[in-house]
Amino acid sequence: MSVLEPFIAGLPKAELHVHHVGSASPRIVAELAARHPDSPVPTDPEALADFFTFRDFAHFIEVYLSVVDLIRDAEDVRLLTYEVARDMARQNIRYAELTVTPYSSTRRGIPDQAFVEAIEDARKSAEAELGVVLRWCFDIPGEAGLTSAEETARIACDLKPEGLVSFGLGGPEIGVPRPQFKPYFDRAIAAGLHSVPHAGETTGPQTIWDALVDLRAERIGHGTSATQDPKLLAHLAERRIPLEVCPTSNLATRAVADLDSHPIKEMVAAGVLVTINSDDPPMFGTDLNTEYAVAARLLDLDATGVAALAKNAVEASFMDTAGKAALTKEIDAYTALWRG
Ligand SMILES: [Zn+2]
Repeated sequence: MSVLEPFIAGLPKAELHVHHVGSASPRIVAELAARHPDSPVPTDPEALADFFTFRDFAHFIEVYLSVVDLIRDAEDVRLLTYEVARDMARQNIRYAELTVTPYSSTRRGIPDQAFVEAIEDARKSAEAELGVVLRWCFDIPGEAGLTSAEETARIACDLKPEGLVSFGLGGPEIGVPRPQFKPYFDRAIAAGLHSVPHAGETTGPQTIWDALVDLRAERIGHGTSATQDPKLLAHLAERRIPLEVCPTSNLATRAVADLDSHPIKEMVAAGVLVTINSDDPPMFGTDLNTEYAVAARLLDLDATGVAALAKNAVEASFMDTAGKAALTKEIDAYTALWRG
């Protein structure tokens, strides 16, 4: 255990790359499963822990889909969202841009308006009761093709909930070229949303260039392969385009062979604005605090270095200037107190 762990646990943090359904912890899944007794998902903690012990990536997909199957009505959506914020509050996460995939719910028959009202209701309660500020990134599930892109852009632009700040693209990269999504990103950007696609997690640097050029990405989800292209790294550094790095997720999906060969060191050395994130935390057996501990080890950081990473996330976020200044000040005050 790192001596930095208590520091990290208390550090006020922002998270920029974390998925809605992918944040369903065993506790939340048990609550959802209890609402739907016909589901094959176990409700007692021991059986659930076993269910959440991943054997391989195919098993991860299987578990993910059984959790998706538990989100059947607007109350499930509200409960999931609020409970995810509760898990965030426990880690001192003050602000999160949560990646939400409305298409997964609307295609299952939850009306778009009801879906949006459910997440907005949870957002307001989470802020008032838990002190966690939530914002949304509506993302296209790439594997579901252009129909899902059309539906996601429509919901984002027509309903545009108050908490919505950005537009994303997830799912597999292999066989799902980024440029085909350009018209949908153009619409979202015209509607005032920021562009934050996943790119370069399981494919090479060209996918990141495509995300930058065609989708006008302002931040890159993962961007793991950026270090294979020195010109791209220099471009990201020069333009201050942040990378949303998720170390344990990259290991779980085999984007990196082991944590020690994660390219985060090269990213930082090149001057790229690196942020630390957890992606699908319970599904990858991690949380944001663990990811900060991993990053601290890989980058050989002390408390000040870890605090600098936390401040990177604030800078890279879509918070307003006053919000950024307040959270940065809080991080500095906490760090100063810690250092005595
Ligand atoms: Zn992701």
